[in-house]
Amino acid sequence: MSTVSESGVVGAVNKELFIGGKWTAAADSRTFPVHDPATGEVLCEVADASPADGLAALDAAVAAQADWSAHPPRERGEILRRAFDALMARQDELALLMTLEMGKPLAEARGEIAYAAEFFRWFAEEAVRIDGGYAVAPNGVGRFLVTKQPVGPSLLITPWNFPMAMGTRKIGPAVAAGCTMVIKPAAQTPLSMLALAQILADAGLPDGVLNVVTTTGAGEVMEPLIRDGRARKLSFTGSTAVGRKLLEQCAGNVLRTSMELGGNAPFLVFDDADLDAAVDGAMQAKMRNIGEACTAANRFYVQRGIVEEFSRRLTERMAALPIGRGTEDGVVVGPLIDEAAVAKVNALVTDATQRGAKVLTGGTTVDGPGHFYRPTVLTDVPAAARMSTEEIFGPVAPISVFDTEDEALAAANDTEYGLVSYVFTSEIKRALRVCERLETGMIGLNQGIVSNPAAPFGGVKQSGLGREGGTVGIEEFLETKYIAVSL
Ligand code: NAP
Repeated sequence: MSTVSESGVVGAVNKELFIGGKWTAAADSRTFPVHDPATGEVLCEVADASPADGLAALDAAVAAQADWSAHPPRERGEILRRAFDALMARQDELALLMTLEMGKPLAEARGEIAYAAEFFRWFAEEAVRIDGGYAVAPNGVGRFLVTKQPVGPSLLITPWNFPMAMGTRKIGPAVAAGCTMVIKPAAQTPLSMLALAQILADAGLPDGVLNVVTTTGAGEVMEPLIRDGRARKLSFTGSTAVGRKLLEQCAGNVLRTSMELGGNAPFLVFDDADLDAAVDGAMQAKMRNIGEACTAANRFYVQRGIVEEFSRRLTERMAALPIGRGTEDGVVVGPLIDEAAVAKVNALVTDATQRGAKVLTGGTTVDGPGHFYRPTVLTDVPAAARMSTEEIFGPVAPISVFDTEDEALAAANDTEYGLVSYVFTSEIKRALRVCERLETGMIGLNQGIVSNPAAPFGGVKQSGLGREGGTVGIEEFLETKYIAVSL
């Protein structure tokens, strides 16, 4: 149990909209409830923004842009650095807040606060490294000046599964680059973002640079902002289905986009793999965030020689995981986000078993309040099963067997997604061959976690456009300007 109280951390968050540096009620005073997914109980009410509130937030971002772009990069970095310190100093209370609204166990929530804060530290360092160039034109007469400038007012939309880190991964580079923002967090987990807005204000972020709108009307509030013409960029993290829709809306004004979308990660284990490492990696890649991660291993392909042993060991580990409210000591498997998520996972498992898959452990919901699903391992999952093509987003590991490397690669790449894949093999030539042929933006080679603020995160195919984090992350919020100079 944590030493900070649940009502204390929820009570400490301002529940209004944050526009132009002021906390303000929604224009029509509407609010909506935030639920604890472990109990189904209402934690609190937050402001429910209307389209007029969204426009007020964009007005504030547009008004602040010119001054903010002129702000010294060092100071922009220092604001981020102070916010990093504040996030780490308040790690326990922010972790508890996240566990209450999202469900993940406290240890994982603490990990997410550290991961989220690290984006601020990383981009604090990047703010002062925005470069340019001076070159002699090929004809020897002219000169080229190249400089980078902030893209301008940016719209940011984040999902519920990493309520803090998906925000800082966008806000960090936007602040570093000199962009102002309107951010809309997921309606199911608005509290972490509201707490973050206060932290950034306290760290010295000028009024209007970050504006936060919480709403149950995501489409009706955000579409007018996308179509308004004054915003210059949309950075979205969420499902591929919503991402496609937003790309269409962005086409109207040729808005620049960054799209971090869904995944369907294959997890390949070859006969020559270190089996201990493969099982450890499988547990991380599958069970981080209760399986509710875009990077979650969604399909396990295991070579025939070790499939039985791998399945046995994975089943043993999965069956032993303690399930419960994320605030309880020792709990590893918290609730899924809502009842619809449980129903979807259940439907995918039923579909797979009806097509011949066998349940080694789990396969059922948990009685009582909250939205719990048991850690599940399935074998003999056929390619025709829905879970081979759809994101499971829950604690279910489907195992299929393969014989040859070509067969494994064909199965792994047989998806519209291309975010991440995992490969376990001890043979260096095979490792490089397979990594080169996998159609994903990221690969975990003999490891089950790829996320790192210092590395470029993102997908290919329908998993997205652009990269967040690493040295390329700030480029998403910069334009390159070339000045042709006559001497
Ligand atoms: P989602 O349904 O696409 O929602 C994501 C965000 O978009 C939420 O803030 C949502 O608001 C908002 N939204 C929904 N419809 C919208 C619309 N018509 N116009 C504007 N905004 C809209 O996804 P989710 O269920 O929250 O998150 C899970 C998905 O995110 C999974 O597919 C996962 O793989 C993906 N994800 C990807 C990454 C990555 O880095 N690639 C990271 C994390 C998650 P409401 O909350 O109000 O619906």
